[in-house]
Amino acid sequence: MDSKEFRKYAHEMVDWMADYFEQIEQYPVKSPVQPKEILQQLPSRAPEEGESMEQIFKDFQDIILPGITHWQHPKFLAYFPANTSFASVLGEMLTATMGAQCMIWDTSPAAAELEECVMNWLKDMMQLPSNWDGVIQDTASTATLTALLTAREVATNYSVNQHGINENNLRVYCSQETHSSIEKAVKIMGLGRDNLIKVPVTEQLDMSPKALYHYIQTDIANGKRPIAVVVALGTTGTTAVDDLEVIGRLCKEYNIWLHVDAAYAGSALVLPEYQWMIKGIEYVDSFVFNAHKWLFTNFDCSAYFVKDREALIKTFEVLPEYLKTKSRGLVNDYRDWGVPLGRRFRALKLWFVLRNYGVKGIQKTLRNHMAWAKDFSDWIKQADDFELVMPTTFNLVCFRYHPRNLTEEVLNELNAQLLDQLNSGGTVYLTHTKIKGQYTLRAVFGQTYLTKAHVEEVWSTVQSLARKIDRS
Ligand SMILES: *Cc1c(COP(=O)(O)O)cnc(C)c1O
Repeated sequence: MDSKEFRKYAHEMVDWMADYFEQIEQYPVKSPVQPKEILQQLPSRAPEEGESMEQIFKDFQDIILPGITHWQHPKFLAYFPANTSFASVLGEMLTATMGAQCMIWDTSPAAAELEECVMNWLKDMMQLPSNWDGVIQDTASTATLTALLTAREVATNYSVNQHGINENNLRVYCSQETHSSIEKAVKIMGLGRDNLIKVPVTEQLDMSPKALYHYIQTDIANGKRPIAVVVALGTTGTTAVDDLEVIGRLCKEYNIWLHVDAAYAGSALVLPEYQWMIKGIEYVDSFVFNAHKWLFTNFDCSAYFVKDREALIKTFEVLPEYLKTKSRGLVNDYRDWGVPLGRRFRALKLWFVLRNYGVKGIQKTLRNHMAWAKDFSDWIKQADDFELVMPTTFNLVCFRYHPRNLTEEVLNELNAQLLDQLNSGGTVYLTHTKIKGQYTLRAVFGQTYLTKAHVEEVWSTVQSLARKIDRS
């Protein structure tokens, strides 16, 4: 392909992209394909001779697209959103075009400096402490691993990095409701899953500070060393919010690293009315939230902040001869701020989004999401045959169909059936969780292109389908 052809196909594909966004509601939200259905349509070997873009693009549309779940569909209410936006896609196109490898300042000074700038913007927008430093990671999982590794090194005076782990007594704490990435990090970092304590939760499904206190004391009495506590602001199941202030004080008292996983709900800090979540932020050592979930910046873009950047860098720094530069020490070399050496230019799309929306634009969109989720919860509460399973704190509604007095087993079965039929209908996609044994539907009203009309459509679909299943 030469640049002339590239221009032709790029124009065609941009037209396709705009059409896609305009017509996205014509696709089934959740891909209906069966396991291996896509693979069977693909040749088992790469072609010997190059193929035409026409053929490749046709196969994309005919073979690949039917196997795509449409995360940008406004009625994608499953998991948490992985939103994009027009500005973000445009930024990503330029990132792909330049293909810059942003491992150190020298390999693209503007990338490093723009990253520093947008991380400072976020800190300011979200009212996070001004003395923190930020870096973009690929995912919250990586950021949490980075945090726990730093905590381990700080607690052991950097001796594990040097000599390896030789005592089996380092402990990490999170609640029973926290994300699986914490367990994964503990496995990867060599602590062993047995040394992750999953602290019981309260009625609201946030970590019980009392239980945490008990575990820490017992552990210390038994010769264990608490090195980190992970607080969740917005758990994955129900967006429960742990008590940062009380847990923070505890961490300070025992000199334990405090990491905050605000992967999803962190975006809400852009709204002053959600600042209550970070009361106690002064106790926090590290903090992650995903701009690639609810801040209109396409995957991947995870914002990671630390109080002590020297501890972070000391944990990850390795300096081979070929990476020694004259600018070292004067600038941020982000390769030392996390696991990978190579880094994509992710700051660009975030910069596009923050500038194109503006703080006010983001606030307005998030407030709409909150308001519509509240409307939906109110409709649930007012309907005799539905039940709100948890109060709605942000824009996730946890509910179930509960037409009359039935056993929990029958209710679980009924709701599982409802979910299955909702999703196979193609107009909406929800997921579920179990809350205190109850099969609960989760609807997250947070998609970039969501409107109030969509929320009303969802409610009408949910009601009519539930009642139909009950009658049959
Ligand atoms: C989504 C999520 C994660 C994982 O995020 P990745 O970026 O996919 O690693 C971690 N914690 C919480 C609370 C989440 O919602």
